[in-house]
Amino acid sequence: MGPPGAGKGTQGELLARRLGIPRYSTGDILRQALRERTPMGLAAKRFMRAGELVPDDVMLGIIGEVLASEESANGFLLDGFPRTVAQAEGLRRTLEEMGLGLDAVVNLTVPDDVIMHRLSTRGRKDDLAKTIRRRLEVYRAQTKPVLDWYADAGVRILAIEGVGDIEEIQQQILGCLAL
Ligand code: AMP
Repeated sequence: MGPPGAGKGTQGELLARRLGIPRYSTGDILRQALRERTPMGLAAKRFMRAGELVPDDVMLGIIGEVLASEESANGFLLDGFPRTVAQAEGLRRTLEEMGLGLDAVVNLTVPDDVIMHRLSTRGRKDDLAKTIRRRLEVYRAQTKPVLDWYADAGVRILAIEGVGDIEEIQQQILGCLAL
């Protein structure tokens, strides 16, 4: 977890490779659906362009599908999901049905000014200044409470500072996970 621009994708990719497990990025899945012009992709487009969240039922449908796949049987890393308490609750139900649980939540923390700089220079279509600001607002209002929800649920949260050398940040995540 972490605000947009925290480096979830970068760190998530490295971590999944090191652990030898699949990484499921809901943002990537949605962008792929949009490129392929599937009904889901087309329906998600206006939310993504506006910096809003795609509705929970759509997201829970996506996650249900990826978790049911064979490649996730030995573990998986979720990137950009859950982003609302309702998604976290839905995920818990799905995992319970599968007899699984979460080992840890990795929370990447990055100061706002660093985020604004990173996002305004990366040039994705949902990275226009207005959209960036909205994405940050949405993060604070809807996604940050998910961290408290996990803390209450007793799930281990690793707080990692997401500023600095990419490989050093990765080593911190690996080190904390091993503790
Ligand atoms: P990301 O690449 O993770 O920043 O996601 C890009 C956009 O996809 C977000 O701004 C949302 O519009 C949408 N999205 C990705 N993951 C989720 C999620 N878990 N819940 C709702 N919307 C999502």
